Amino acid sequence: MNKQNIDWDNLGFSVYPTRSMWQGTCPAKGEWNGGGLVPYGNIEISPVAGVLNYGQGVFEGLKAYHSAKDRVVLFRPEMNAQRIVGSTNRLCIPEIPPDYFLNAVKQVVQDNLDFVPPYGKGELYIRPVVWGTAPTLGVAPAREYTFIVYTAPVGPYFKGNKKPLNLIASESYHRTAPKGIGNVKAIGNYSASLQPVVEAKAGGFDEVLYLKADDERIVEEVGSANIFMRQGNKLVTPKLGGSILPGVTRNSILILAEDKLGLDVVEGDLLLEDLFSADEVFCTGTAVVVTSVGQISYHGETHTIQDGEMGEAATELRQILVGIQREEIEDPYGWVTPVSS
Ligand SMILES: *Cc1c(COP(=O)(O)O)cnc(C)c1O
Repeated sequence: MNKQNIDWDNLGFSVYPTRSMWQGTCPAKGEWNGGGLVPYGNIEISPVAGVLNYGQGVFEGLKAYHSAKDRVVLFRPEMNAQRIVGSTNRLCIPEIPPDYFLNAVKQVVQDNLDFVPPYGKGELYIRPVVWGTAPTLGVAPAREYTFIVYTAPVGPYFKGNKKPLNLIASESYHRTAPKGIGNVKAIGNYSASLQPVVEAKAGGFDEVLYLKADDERIVEEVGSANIFMRQGNKLVTPKLGGSILPGVTRNSILILAEDKLGLDVVEGDLLLEDLFSADEVFCTGTAVVVTSVGQISYHGETHTIQDGEMGEAATELRQILVGIQREEIEDPYGWVTPVSS
């Protein structure tokens, strides 16, 4: 497979212009159809666009992998297709049919195969976004919407990938409110997270650990990743249904932990206090994959988890997950979808 002339060994997680992106539009009461590949580049938009003024937009994030079978595959893209249905509904955006979504994602990847990092060097990050783009002066759903899928070759999300994270449990900020939009991938959730994460980084932390808005004893998630705690043979992660984002990686790890590691998996309330004495803590997401947490600070006190080392289960689960994604080990779940031959 021919590849672009890119310094594949030094990829970070950043903007990279590729050949093309997918673009489609839909009127407020219409249906998503048509659309197609266009050259990657800027788009023209009204200053009164709904998304620019009122944040009417949602996104997705998934990756394409150059696998050990020398082909390019997607990992559970139908989960992203399903999730954006919920996100669009919550923000009064016309629902994107899963087939339309999947076709757009596959076409963009197929047209940019030479930007998919070679086997083992990284992934092609795929970012579907949908916005209210018609001019909207009063607060109301826009009358027209734009769906774009663009991509970028990426390396590790956290530099020095293997080092456990140093988190701060926030006393000053909540990620979202109960009954808010925390359970969908709405763009506004991430603007609200900027100040907390900038302050955390200035304080020497990698990321923010968010607590539940109406009960701060309970942990919700980490910026853009879900959180897990292992205590002996028990693996606990916060239950969905509130303001937690239902991660594709979270779901995959729950299945792998039970099937491959024989852990008892529990979706329930995860107490901050219990994290401090856990055998291990880790977070999961498309960008971070599976990353251990070594330290959590709260009320000025630093708690070190398992000597601050990479956890056992996290290490194994990461290997299995990545092994399936790169087609190095068998995929008994049908999680991998080829997009090239
Ligand atoms: C995207 C995201 C995740 C991780 O979801 P994946 O589908 O595993 O990538 C977790 N939390 C938040 C807040 C997110 O935005």
